[in-house]
Amino acid sequence: MIVVMTSDHKQEQLQHVLDHLSKFPIDPRVVPGEGQTTICLLGKVEQIDQTSLRAMEGVQDVVRISKPFKLASLETQPNPSSIEITSELSIGPGAIVVMAGPCSVESEDQTLRIARAVKAAGANLLRGGAFKPRSSPYSFQGLGKKGLEILALARKETGLPVITEAMDTNTLDLVAEYADIIQVGARSMQNFPLLKELGRLNKPVMLKRGMSASIEEFLMSAEYILAEGNHNVILCERGIRSFDQQFSRNCLDLNAVPILKSLSHLPIIIDPSHGTGKRHLVSPMSLASIAAGADGVIVEVHDRPEEALSDGPQALLPDDFEKLMAGIKSVSAAVGRNVAG
Ligand code: PEP
Ligand code: MN
Repeated sequence: MIVVMTSDHKQEQLQHVLDHLSKFPIDPRVVPGEGQTTICLLGKVEQIDQTSLRAMEGVQDVVRISKPFKLASLETQPNPSSIEITSELSIGPGAIVVMAGPCSVESEDQTLRIARAVKAAGANLLRGGAFKPRSSPYSFQGLGKKGLEILALARKETGLPVITEAMDTNTLDLVAEYADIIQVGARSMQNFPLLKELGRLNKPVMLKRGMSASIEEFLMSAEYILAEGNHNVILCERGIRSFDQQFSRNCLDLNAVPILKSLSHLPIIIDPSHGTGKRHLVSPMSLASIAAGADGVIVEVHDRPEEALSDGPQALLPDDFEKLMAGIKSVSAAVGRNVAG
């Protein structure tokens, strides 16, 4: 249930409503939106009399939320969220954001080379994993803390903010010290202890959709982070498992963009690299993502993909990435948006 306050409500009226709600075994959350304040009531709301609540001063309406996700829902917050990454860069209804870089941080030299190349091509953020979730325990697992230090160096040199993955609660604080956005990988989408800890931080989090997760499960995972108080959540569609893996690694679900936009105020980023697994599919699907209404893309780039320690076959070469940036600018303009920066 949500209580929508009138646009000109007074602070005392809001407090009066909150005092009234404190008599019930529920958890009221004030959600400040652009030009509209709502109170989202979590828990057993059946005992609350909607008519008397609606009659209180400063209250415009009382609405039941039909969906199991509450704070992520467009019903609670009807305006799209803008997530501030730095004083110069936000993700959401403003400009399109492009994140690019290697799958893994492999060495200082490799990361700096690629960071310079993606910066020169116009990327807004540098991606790179220091803690890598790999299907095989024998595959490269990432450089850990050393990898984070390399990302910090690349940020210092290029000015690009960095996005990198946190895999568990033990290393979360360490990752949070270095990351501008903390990535939650597809395999961790339902690591609920990790999601709860992320909810206690005041840092942007990009939550990737699990490879077999429904849209509702995806939004319920976002809800875990929001429910703990961190409102800086960005969604990322990265392809789902399908029956045909002969010509692509995953099936990039672009339906997810308009579906999520119809359900949630959270920004949505598309990852066509993992979504397709094949270099030649990455640029067309990046352009399609922007056309479908995504708020940005995250793309893997490597200058020596044959030597990459992970995901070489889906990495764009820097030249291809430069061409892609030009395409993203054209498609963004065609759908009435600009690319950030
Ligand atoms: C990655 O971003 O390199 C990654 C491992 O992605 P996902 O969790 O989507 O597989
Ligand atoms: Mn990867």
